Amino acid sequence: MVFKYNYDEMLDKAYKELPEVSKEEVRFEIPKVKGSIQGNRTIITNLQQIANDLRRDINHVFKFLLRELATTGDIKSGGTIFVGRFNSSFLNEKIEKYVKEFVMCDQCGKPDTELMKERGLTFKRCAACGAKSSVRTLK
Ligand SMILES: [Zn+2]
Repeated sequence: MVFKYNYDEMLDKAYKELPEVSKEEVRFEIPKVKGSIQGNRTIITNLQQIANDLRRDINHVFKFLLRELATTGDIKSGGTIFVGRFNSSFLNEKIEKYVKEFVMCDQCGKPDTELMKERGLTFKRCAACGAKSSVRTLK
């Protein structure tokens, strides 16, 4: 019996033959909100970071939240303000809803999508599988 590879080469080959699994494919971590309630206002301090993680425009996430919370608000440098008192688990549920609707691909379930507009309609297009589906247009 002749070994074609030495041990290191075999190990190297074995690793190379494993299917590549990216971190995102294993599990997509939905970012959690950080913030506080001050009087009758809820302030999310990391909405910009969340938008960056989701690769979405903060204004789009903000519009979605305003609609979901049925309230008004303002994006300020120190944080995003919502009128009303909302606890973090409720807000996290809304972020999850946003991710499901506007980030995750309906076909393959991956988060590698981008939003695009065509003739006034909004579509979610997946870079992983090429699927394209229409989503709500937030005004
Ligand atoms: Zn897909």
